[in-house]
Amino acid sequence: MEIKKLVRKNILELKPYTTARDEFQGFAEVYLDANENPYPERLNRYPDPLQSKLKEQIALLKGVPASKIFLGNGSDEPIELLIRAFCEPYKESILTTSPTYGMYSVSASSNAVPVIDVPLNENFDLIPGAVNKATKPGTKIIFLANPNNPTANLLNREEILSIIRSFPGLVVVDEAYIDFSGTKSFLEEISEFKNLVVLQTFSKAWGMAGVRLGMCFADEEIIAILNKIKFPYNINVLTQEAVSKALEGAPSVRKWVKEILGQRTDLKSRLEELTCVLKVYPSDANFFLVKVDNGRRAYEWLLKRNIIVRDRSSTPRCENCLRVTVGTAEENKRLINALKDYEKSSVY
Ligand SMILES: *Cc1c(COP(=O)(O)O)cnc(C)c1O
Repeated sequence: MEIKKLVRKNILELKPYTTARDEFQGFAEVYLDANENPYPERLNRYPDPLQSKLKEQIALLKGVPASKIFLGNGSDEPIELLIRAFCEPYKESILTTSPTYGMYSVSASSNAVPVIDVPLNENFDLIPGAVNKATKPGTKIIFLANPNNPTANLLNREEILSIIRSFPGLVVVDEAYIDFSGTKSFLEEISEFKNLVVLQTFSKAWGMAGVRLGMCFADEEIIAILNKIKFPYNINVLTQEAVSKALEGAPSVRKWVKEILGQRTDLKSRLEELTCVLKVYPSDANFFLVKVDNGRRAYEWLLKRNIIVRDRSSTPRCENCLRVTVGTAEENKRLINALKDYEKSSVY
């Protein structure tokens, strides 16, 4: 597959902005190249535009060469950049499998890129062959969230592979929740498939949603295109330092994931005991999609008790569903108790 043939012509021809830090790399004694203020002792310098140190650390952690890594201001940045780089507005499309993460279609729409939607089956899994059949000649990117959001389940691995093999465009596998799934990432497959892009994030299992750091893994050609169109200093100094430090230390990720998985099991059985809960969908992530008697009413009830869940009632095929994050033992207990009170109340 030739990546260059998939890229929009204007992007291919674009000459990127070069920063002061692109022109000179390494260490010097006197920096008079970037119009910075020399007096403060901290944060007065622009960050490394390509985050070399951080990428080396991530490369080591993930077993992927740094040249195949792009870092973004959350995963949302690579999602947006991929659409902008590969899809000609009004003409070329992306494909999503609903219900799924909303940012794919929001980013597409804000770039005037049409979205083809292929609904998942009744178990919220891929229907064999359906995605391939729905693509059009101008379809450039297929987005698959695995595990999916808001449904929390993994998609069929063989079907994902079959899509990657047969689709002549990019397949983005968004693995924001992979650490909770107990399954293998698609990271290893990026060396085999030039059209595969894997997204991961520091926002979920790593517990660093506040720093906004998303990882994009793909073939060097795709990474080069993203680097060409990103904002020059897209990852600020504070974020680079914070994540670098977390990676140098002994991150508690494994311990947290284990604890969250324990709470997940517990929360599922507690939820299933409730009469207001009609169904708890299986979860491979750190949240549940829960069908209740009346989504809006249950949401409002919880809200009044200072418990915030996500009301997904208005999402097609998620009618009366709440998306509930697995919290601490204490938080989960408060949720269950509030729902028990709800069942006893006059509104129920
Ligand atoms: C939470 C989430 C992300 C992560 O987004 P960030 O911008 O990295 O915080 C990506 N994809 C899906 C499906 C998510 O649910």
